[in-house]
Amino acid sequence: MPQSQSTTSISMAPTRPAAVVSTLTSATGRRRPPTERGRPSPEPGRPDARGEWLRFAPVQPLFRARAAQRLAVLAYHGVTDHRSFGAQLDRLRRLATPVSLTAVLQAVTEQRPLPPRSVLVTFDDADRSVLTHALPALDARGIPATAFVISELIGTERPFWWHEADFLARHGGRARSLDCGHPSQLLPRLKAMPDPDRRRSLHELRVSADRRPPRQEQLTPADLLALRDGGVAIGNHTQGHPCLGRCDDATVRAEITGAHEALTRWLGEPPIAFAYPDGGHDPRAETVLQELGYRLGFLSDHRLGPRIPSHPLQISRLQVDSTTSTRRFDTILSGLEPAYRRWRRQAVA
Ligand SMILES: [Zn+2]
Repeated sequence: MPQSQSTTSISMAPTRPAAVVSTLTSATGRRRPPTERGRPSPEPGRPDARGEWLRFAPVQPLFRARAAQRLAVLAYHGVTDHRSFGAQLDRLRRLATPVSLTAVLQAVTEQRPLPPRSVLVTFDDADRSVLTHALPALDARGIPATAFVISELIGTERPFWWHEADFLARHGGRARSLDCGHPSQLLPRLKAMPDPDRRRSLHELRVSADRRPPRQEQLTPADLLALRDGGVAIGNHTQGHPCLGRCDDATVRAEITGAHEALTRWLGEPPIAFAYPDGGHDPRAETVLQELGYRLGFLSDHRLGPRIPSHPLQISRLQVDSTTSTRRFDTILSGLEPAYRRWRRQAVA
């Protein structure tokens, strides 16, 4: 994607993601920007109360006991509420066994289960809050983590494409394939398109919008080294974060290989872990990952997994947010909230 160079009156100072969020919010009215997965992110600083009542469900102790024998991999998208995030980490320190990416790899290699209540903390997309907010909090508690980066954003001030599309559509941007439909359908429709159509639609939005989106300062190669040295392993999250299922074979290969080469150059060693953009498994991607020597691949299927990952390139993760209240956090960690969500989906279908 071409770099967004802003000349408008919106605040464009390189800044933390939370500030980008508030900039987008104030510029676009009440609606908060969508997360990568398409739903509005909880308001920063306000506890996310959904599902808190599950904490008191009679089955919660059973789920917690079962979860002790599973691996919980938490998938964050940055940290917008450092206080709440700190409380979550304190909870992990008290109730769980935080493990590193290396420990998960070792469990796979030696076929020896991870300790009971093992939890691996991961971050997808790796915005700057991983460095500015997450790293100090993790470091203070001695908790290792892994960040999956979008390589073509490293060292730039480009926003994530889903934030950019949302902003452009709200500032007069138009695209032929998106002309009708409710604004809330923008991201689902972009994600459902064949990837060349998504890129073309983004281009059309850029050239037709009356404002350019705020710049978003991204991590630099030096930041990646600082994270790694601070106990946050760096993994591959493709070059430009397309939905791999909408890409042709050559693009799937180029997206993974391009990011792999850039990360190897910056880190001085090849990454061993990959997170599928948007969380969905793609068998063609898995083939490329195997060829490149990747050992661990992570989904976003909102599930717990076995303490010896049975499919190392398809490891389940739980979706969490730094604003999630500790009560709800507990029900996610136990697997009860994910099970309830699946049950609700089936009941509605
Ligand atoms: Zn992502």
